[in-house]
Parts: sequence; C-alpha cells; structure tokens
Amino acid sequence: MLWPELQANEEIDEIHDENVDLSVYDRFLVFFSGGKDSLACLLHLLEMGVQAEKIELHHHLVDGREGSTLMDWPVTEAYCEAVAKHFGVKLTLSWRRGGFEAEMNRKDAATAPVCIPDGTGGFVAVGGNGPLGTRLKFPQVSANLSVRWCSSSLKIDTGARYLTNDEVFTRGKTLVLTGERAQESKARSKYRQFEAHRCDLRTGRSYQRHIDHWRPIHQWDEAAVWEIIKRWGILAHPAYHLGWGRTSCRQCIFGSKNQWATVRAIAPEAFQKIAVYEREFGVTIHRSESVVQRADAGVPYALDHRWIAIANSKTLDIPVHVADRWEMPLGAFGESCGPT
Ligand code: SF4
Repeated sequence: MLWPELQANEEIDEIHDENVDLSVYDRFLVFFSGGKDSLACLLHLLEMGVQAEKIELHHHLVDGREGSTLMDWPVTEAYCEAVAKHFGVKLTLSWRRGGFEAEMNRKDAATAPVCIPDGTGGFVAVGGNGPLGTRLKFPQVSANLSVRWCSSSLKIDTGARYLTNDEVFTRGKTLVLTGERAQESKARSKYRQFEAHRCDLRTGRSYQRHIDHWRPIHQWDEAAVWEIIKRWGILAHPAYHLGWGRTSCRQCIFGSKNQWATVRAIAPEAFQKIAVYEREFGVTIHRSESVVQRADAGVPYALDHRWIAIANSKTLDIPVHVADRWEMPLGAFGESCGPT
C-alpha cells in the first residue's frame, strides 16, 4: 500500500519505508524540539533522499519570546538554528504569547494568541479570543492533556494554529513528521505510524488542506536513534551531555528527583522560581512532593562545567557537526523522564 492512497480518516498502524513514496509531497514539516528523536526524523528523511529545500523544521518556543525564561533550556533555540543551518533547511518558530508562564498565570482571562510565521520573515498573532479561564497552577504530571496543559497549549495547539492559518498548507501535499517512539511509553506505543493529520482537510468543500502525519521512527529503539545521529556526526543537544536522557524543558514537570537536584545545581535561580510558584499556588507539580523535596531526595548528575555553560547559554558557540569527534552523550540510555 502506498501512502498517497490514504483516504481521510484512514489510519495505518504499521508501515515500512519501502512502501513510502515521498515524491508525492510538496513539503516535509518536521516538528523539531531539538531532541534526539526529532533529529533522527530529519536525518532519516535526508537518508531517504529528500532534498533539503523541501524540508522545514518547526520549533515551538515553550517560554515564548516576550522575556519569560521559566522552563526551557536557554540554548535550545540556538541549537535548532545551528542544525537547520548545517543542513540548509528552513527553520520556523511558533509560540503562545507569553509562553508557559503567562498561560500558567492566567486568571479570568482568555488564553493568549499564538504567534506563527507570517511568510515574510515576521510573525502574526492568531487566536486568543477563547473563553475566560483561570489556571494558577502548574500542569499536572499526567497522560491526560486536559490537566497536563503545557503539551496541548504550547505545542499541539500551537502547531495546529500554524497548519490551519498559513495558506501555504492549502497548496499541494504536506507530510508532517514527529518523533514519538513506541519504546517511550505505553501511550506512545499505541500511536499510529501513519494517518491523516488532525489538521487535514482534504475533503473540504471551499478549500482543501492535504496533510499526512508520519511517525517514521515509531518502531526504532534508542540505539537506532543514536546510531543515525552518530552516522551523521551531529552534536546531540547539550542537555544529553549533562546526563538528561530526553531533551524537553530544562525544568520539565516530569523531571526525576535526580533531574531536579541537577537543575538546582546548574540553574539555581530557575529552580527557585519554580519553588516559589509552587508555594504561591499551594499546589505542587508532583502530586505529593515539592520540587525542593524532590531535589533533596535526588543526586545531581556529574556536573561538567563546560557543558553547563553551553546548555545555559542563549548562543551555541561550538560546531553542531562534530564528525569523527562525535561522542555518545552521558545521558544516552539513561533516565528517560518526559511527556508520556
Ligand atoms: S517538556 Fe515537560 S514541561 Fe515542557 S511542555 Fe513538555 S511536558 Fe510540559
């Protein structure tokens, strides 16, 4: 079965690369967090012969661009830029205005608009006129996206706004790629490998939007992910070199005890901000322990001051292509905490 024959609402649990006809797509949009799995998606596309000009990496800025630094690794945006530049692929960005912090502090207010590329190098704000609501607490550690609102509000919805508001996606066929792997969690193991994207509108009456969604590394194990990154000689995100097994937000709500202990050691001010918010809200991220209690119970990863400086910088001042100097990061095959 070839993908282009996929009808709306049809889903494919399992698909093999040899069934793929990538020639029918006009563009390939990789949702790119900067982590190893979305990097593997990009490298796999290139290995399948897709030209760089047809590939776009799209990154969501969790903290937005209005000055908040509550959650993310400072270096992530610069790392994404460096990867895109190295391969000559386009990088685009989107974010909810004010980021995680503004959404969390929402009180009797509508969720903020989403900023998406305007097609001329700038950004345009869309949405932001929903019902009034109050959060005043962190997202809860849960597979349920209605309480773990950061993933839905800052990533899934933000990406959907881009796909449904930029008219480029009404022209030709788009293949969206994401890097979920079955090995990561029971919830992810149930994801389809191929389906019409949730923003697809191929049977629309007044206009159409043909968007398929492929999870090309769904069946890969972690070793296969590191193998392709090594083969291409690409520096893994600095967080892996500090001991993280997954790269998401530095202060991710799913952080283990060891990760909170490490965050407190390498970014004490950022850690304190989280601790203060927990006290203010009277609700902790973890169901029964504060981040302070969790950090107290954990042991920081080995603290390498060179990598701490790199990960905590807004710029990436080392090459992203390291070729034969490539090293397996400390965090590979280690603790793997993150969204389920
Ligand atoms: S990485 Fe963690 S904290 Fe950041 S948006 Fe995802 S689940 Fe939320």
